[in-house]
Amino acid sequence: MLDIRNLDVHYRGIQALRGVDLTVKKGEIFALIGPNGAGKSSLVNALSGIVPSGGEILFEGEPLGRRPAHLRSRAGIIQVPEGRRVIAPLSVAENLELGRQAAGVRGSDAADLDRVHALFPVLKDRREQLSGSLSGGQQQMLAIGRALMGRPKVLMLDEPSLGLAPVIIKDVFRALVQLNREGMTILLVEQNARLALQTAHRAAVLEQGRIVHQGLASDLANDPVIADHYFGRA
Ligand code: ATP
Repeated sequence: MLDIRNLDVHYRGIQALRGVDLTVKKGEIFALIGPNGAGKSSLVNALSGIVPSGGEILFEGEPLGRRPAHLRSRAGIIQVPEGRRVIAPLSVAENLELGRQAAGVRGSDAADLDRVHALFPVLKDRREQLSGSLSGGQQQMLAIGRALMGRPKVLMLDEPSLGLAPVIIKDVFRALVQLNREGMTILLVEQNARLALQTAHRAAVLEQGRIVHQGLASDLANDPVIADHYFGRA
């Protein structure tokens, strides 16, 4: 689905990613873990086209080249941003509609909304409510729902557990697993390494802009070095 080759991201004076090679296969959950500042968000933002990058990204075998962000989301590369970024003064329903429009989905298809409501019934119950008045967990569900309205082929989530209570995190991750069972390819960026490795099929560890481990999530979870480095934190 996504083939990432020799990816570099530079900001002024800072190299955030250095020659990253990564493949996300169709139908899998791939987790990217690593400490603060390792470059995880930079990788997702490079895939979305929000930050410029060097190297090559192939999506379904086609090079993305310099394709701008809005065309990438239209093609099905859709991100749930860190911090959720729901539009607070708009209702839940309006935020979902924005997700559809942003990805250029034509016409309104009740099936898309039905799927989001089935996954997160609270969004149906609160469809007229202003998004800014939702809890953090509900806003995360809305951010995921908004992304789904754009009919992603690959759904990328940047730190979906951040700031949420454990019981809500469980709900959100259960929904991600359900989506994946229905066929959705998911790229999950998480600082909560234990949770990410429990959820994913394969994973990579990023440190200082480089991939330092990569493999089956279950193997990484059983690796004492990784447990030692990352499991204490979450
Ligand atoms: P976090 O979990 O804190 O978001 P991360 O692993 O997602 O960390 P990035 O946000 O990709 O890491 O940051 C990688 C490096 O790039 C860090 O040193 C960060 O300070 C730097 N960086 C990120 N965004 C910018 C920017 N817009 N301008 C300059 N430097 C940036």
